[in-house]
Amino acid sequence: MFDVIKIRSDFPVLATTVYDKPLVYFDNAATTQKPEEVINAIKQAYTTYYSNIHRGVHALSDISSEKYESAREKVRSFINAGSVEEIIFTAGTTASVNLVAFSFGERYVKSGDEILISGLEHHANIVPWQMMCQRKNAHLKVIPVNDDGTLRIEEIDGLITEKTKLVSITQVSNALGVIIPVKKIIDKAHEYDIPVLVDGAQGVQHGHVDIRELDCDFYAFSGHKIYGPTGIGVLYGKKKWLEEMPPYQGGGDMVERVSFEKTTYNKLPFKFEAGTTNFVGAIGIGKALDYIESVGMEDIIKHEKELTEYASTRMKEIRGIEIYGNTKEKISIMSFLIDKVHQYDAGMILDKMGIAVRTGSHCAQPVMARFGIDGTIRASMCFYNTREEIDVLIEGIEKVKRMML
Ligand code: PLP
Repeated sequence: MFDVIKIRSDFPVLATTVYDKPLVYFDNAATTQKPEEVINAIKQAYTTYYSNIHRGVHALSDISSEKYESAREKVRSFINAGSVEEIIFTAGTTASVNLVAFSFGERYVKSGDEILISGLEHHANIVPWQMMCQRKNAHLKVIPVNDDGTLRIEEIDGLITEKTKLVSITQVSNALGVIIPVKKIIDKAHEYDIPVLVDGAQGVQHGHVDIRELDCDFYAFSGHKIYGPTGIGVLYGKKKWLEEMPPYQGGGDMVERVSFEKTTYNKLPFKFEAGTTNFVGAIGIGKALDYIESVGMEDIIKHEKELTEYASTRMKEIRGIEIYGNTKEKISIMSFLIDKVHQYDAGMILDKMGIAVRTGSHCAQPVMARFGIDGTIRASMCFYNTREEIDVLIEGIEKVKRMML
């Protein structure tokens, strides 16, 4: 039985106060809070078996290595990838996209080629491609956005050419919460034999991800947005690409043999994990995935859907609120503006009521430009949030209106 009160008690920070008001944490799209199990797993790693992985012959190193590799297996199973060789630990989504942009770009992209992204991307899925395009003299093309925040996917056929080398697309818009029909886009790109990277930073924590069913070529996500630690993330890549792609960084652990004349590289996935990785972070991600499984993804989806519907209904009752990304297919993100009130002013008033929302462009300036605004107020909810917290937000919005209009 899904019991939100019990779930909340797993997250110590949710019981805290801000300015003597109970914390209402609605900034989950930026980063999520951590359950005690994750915090304890990290503490246990540092206090009972901490030692560097892979290179030791001693007992502690064996334990660390085993825990790290079993975290990799947990990630594999959570997203239903075919093999642990296809699971690379990185520092986060940004690092994963940069890895592919650099390495795939080095191997496959030449002057005049094209990369296709969408108008809904986070900067992390724009700038690495721009940098690669600059290096390679390639071009970035963009799938346009409709007024309701959905993508004009019917235009993809016209945007793909024989020069398109890769499509890189977000699963969910972090700025609007709109869910993108990535499976359709993947199937369409594959009709032209073009690989697809899915930025799962806002997708993986809100629904089932089955990599083999999606059939994407790359999938990236961050630990800190899925109730795990910061500084750790995942890149899934199909083996056929990863084997061909050159390493992104050089150093320890990613090599097989090193001499001054010639270096040979380690096998997958280690070829892409140079240096001492954030192995404690990886152990933390593993624990976070265990925790999500213990709550149950079906219940998470159901509870978050109820919250979204409740928040939409309540917000639509308030005059002067403009909601951006007004579609049915969305995750629990409400991105909005209150009449002519600047989003920062609104955010500061809400903060004084203990409500943590994010204001600004949400690292998606092209999305804001598409709607002719410079930012929104974003209340992003997840499975530990409640209807009562939404009521507090609604009270807050009324207060903003009273104070500012
Ligand atoms: N992609 C999307 C859709 C995001 O929402 C974010 C973070 O907000 C990122 C990429 C970047 O994630 P990170 O900062 O964890 O690397």
